Amino acid sequence: MLKKYALYLFRWQMSTPILAVVIALFPVKNEWISAIVANLIGGLIFFWVDRLIFRQQYIFDVWSVEEDVTCADCGTVCRGYRLVKSKTYDKTNDKNPKFRCESCSKKKYDSIKNK
Ligand SMILES: [Zn+2]
Repeated sequence: MLKKYALYLFRWQMSTPILAVVIALFPVKNEWISAIVANLIGGLIFFWVDRLIFRQQYIFDVWSVEEDVTCADCGTVCRGYRLVKSKTYDKTNDKNPKFRCESCSKKKYDSIKNK
C-alpha cells in the first residue's frame, strides 16, 4: 500500500508541469480559468494513469500449501494450508505464516470471507 501511495504522490507531481504551462501560456490571464483548463487537461490524461495505479484486483485466491506442518488451531500434524492473498486479504509479507489443517483452514477462510 505504501508503494502505491508513493506512486500516487509521484503521479500528482506529474500534473505540476501541465498546471505551470497552462497558467504561463493560456491566452486568458485569469488564474481561475487557467487552473480550470489545466485541471481539465490533467483529468483527461491522469484518469487513465490513476486507473492503472488502482486497478490491481485479484480474481483468484492465492494459497500456500506445505507438508508436515502443525495446524495453528488444532495442533494436528498434517498437510497445511494458508491463504496468502485474496481480493480483501493480503498476508504476502507475513513473517510468521500460520498453516492450518484442511478443516481449520476452511473455518478460517469462511471467517475472512464473511467480514
Ligand atoms: Zn486444524
